[in-house]
Amino acid sequence: MTTTAPQTDAATAATAATAATAATAVTTWLAEFNAALIANDPARAAALFTEDCFWRDLISFTWNIRTFEGRAEITRMLQATLPRVQPAGWTVTDGEEPAETGGITEAWIDFETSAGRGHGHLRLRGGQCWTLLTTLYELKGYEEPNGERRPMGAEHGANPDRTTWLEDREAERQNLGVTEQPYVLIVGGGQAGIGLAARLRQLSVPTIVIDKRARPGDQWRSRYKSLCLHDPVWYDHMPYLKFPDNWPVFSPKDKIADWLESYTKVMELNYWPSTEAKSASYDEASKQWTVNVERGGEPVVLHPKQLVLATGMSGRPNIPSFPGMDIFRGDQHHSYAHPGPDAYQGKRCVVIGSNNSAFDICGALWENGADVTMVQRSSTHIVRSATLMDIGLSALYSERAVASGITTGKADLIFASIPYRIMHLFQIPLYDQMRERDKDFYDRLEKAGFDHDWGEDGSGLFMKYLRRGSGYYIDVGAADLVANGDVKLVRGQVDHLTQDAVVLADGTELPADLVVYATGYTSMNGWAAELISRDVADKVGKCWGLGSDTTKDPGPWEGEQRNMWKPTQQEALWFTGGNLHQSRHYSLFLALQLKARQAGVPTPVYGLQEVHHLS
Ligand SMILES: Cc1cc2nc3c(=O)[nH]c(=O)nc-3n(C[C@H](O)[C@H](O)[C@H](O)COP(=O)(O)OP(=O)(O)OC[C@H]3O[C@@H](n4cnc5c(N)ncnc54)[C@H](O)[C@@H]3O)c2cc1C
Repeated sequence: MTTTAPQTDAATAATAATAATAATAVTTWLAEFNAALIANDPARAAALFTEDCFWRDLISFTWNIRTFEGRAEITRMLQATLPRVQPAGWTVTDGEEPAETGGITEAWIDFETSAGRGHGHLRLRGGQCWTLLTTLYELKGYEEPNGERRPMGAEHGANPDRTTWLEDREAERQNLGVTEQPYVLIVGGGQAGIGLAARLRQLSVPTIVIDKRARPGDQWRSRYKSLCLHDPVWYDHMPYLKFPDNWPVFSPKDKIADWLESYTKVMELNYWPSTEAKSASYDEASKQWTVNVERGGEPVVLHPKQLVLATGMSGRPNIPSFPGMDIFRGDQHHSYAHPGPDAYQGKRCVVIGSNNSAFDICGALWENGADVTMVQRSSTHIVRSATLMDIGLSALYSERAVASGITTGKADLIFASIPYRIMHLFQIPLYDQMRERDKDFYDRLEKAGFDHDWGEDGSGLFMKYLRRGSGYYIDVGAADLVANGDVKLVRGQVDHLTQDAVVLADGTELPADLVVYATGYTSMNGWAAELISRDVADKVGKCWGLGSDTTKDPGPWEGEQRNMWKPTQQEALWFTGGNLHQSRHYSLFLALQLKARQAGVPTPVYGLQEVHHLS
């Protein structure tokens, strides 16, 4: 005890000194930055950044989602935005001490603009800013009614005209879309649509969500029956309403469906089930949409000012067309329509594809006594679920992270603070560790002839997801079935189908009673083509991807995901989607963009993205 005590004191003193140095570095930098901004001197502000700097802005300066790389881009952005944004009040967030590790000082910061209040994150290197994240979290004068501002609910006193909560809700339900037009129409009532609708409700933006399916949650209910979320619970919370502490780590699909259905009620959403958008057009003169919908079979015309497509990033199936599909006598369907394995016990099943859905479906078919063959057409990245959770996610999204004070909101911002241009550099070492830990597993897969990759630069799952939204499997057991031959593996391209077989380009014939096309999904602007017009879909261009110039994500470099949660080339048309984490995080910024427009807050967009690809 006596020998360790002085060392502990010394260590404590050293830690305190480092913390004080970090705090001084941050406050000094913020003061200089603030002074340059007040002086309306973009070049002086940009000179406070390192040469290889990044500034990621989520709508606070740009009314856009943009990352600026290098001093010149920052200077240009500030020249265009400073006079209007009038940023001020740069401070270290209360209770968040700056910290220094490995030469990088990190800090959480707060600031204000003329329109609202922002949070941010700062990384300093050698006293200069290396990465800056700025995000707007609320609009002045339109703060959400939460915490101290929560509604009373009860109206105390005596009022002969009193109406109840239920009566008010009923009146709203009857009027909205009939006598009163919604300001926002969200097409698609999956997690993305309802999370956004919940935010808009808190911001008092009249909103209707429509979905062609009969019940909220049906998009999950309708998927193959063995499906459980591949991401863990800490990653999956919806806005406002977290899963309870006893919620399973991996939510079964019907359980998440019921949760989403409850969410629409608890969050008091105006959700129109069994309502399909049939067509939409935008009138430049009146600045409103005409959307023809069919509600319970009856035609209804809506005139929202803003139209959001929340119709699913994994919603428009990419159905291949192979010669012979018309004569094949067995069952054949895309993975989105696969009902599950029950009808296929003892049957010969061929699954075309080797990513998440393919593996899940192969596993469930095998468990149900089917004879299963997987056709691998291109290489796949596989990472074991437990390893991904431990090495890839646990620092931000885990029970451990929560215990150490990393709330979901904080984790989302930490993730957001890493510029996409360099995110792979943070990811590669993690995937190197995974490769090392599960070496035997990968050796076995390789021996079985499986074509495995780690992404073109070794950066693994998240980068593949952000770049192309496909090409991976989070292994929850089915990979072993391939490795040990229980699920047969064939590599090659499909040439055609016969009446009872799939034939590959090399002549290999795979007799089949069932063919599942686990061939993925197409870009979300395809929804705009279906609903609005091909012209508008082309005007908007490809959705998703970063322009990384890797497979299925052609350059040029965009720096952000194309068209997601931000203004598009089509006025008043927006896209939302992605996994639960993205839907939660970005719904705030999309909701604030819509609220600002409804409230008449000026929203000049800086750096509207150009279109380089149509799909
Ligand atoms: C097999 C599979 C497993 C997945 N696993 C995970 C996971 O583990 N974790 C995770 O975070 N994500 C996962 N995802 C990805 C993503 O989270 C889901 O696809 C999720 O359902 C996307 O939600 P969304 O709201 O964007 O779209 P969707 O849930 O696809 O909802 C879109 C809705 O739009 C409706 N719609 C479409 N057109 C119209 C129209 N014209 N009119 C009215 N309504 C219309 C559809 O009926 C649908 O309900 C998975 C996806 C798939 C396919």
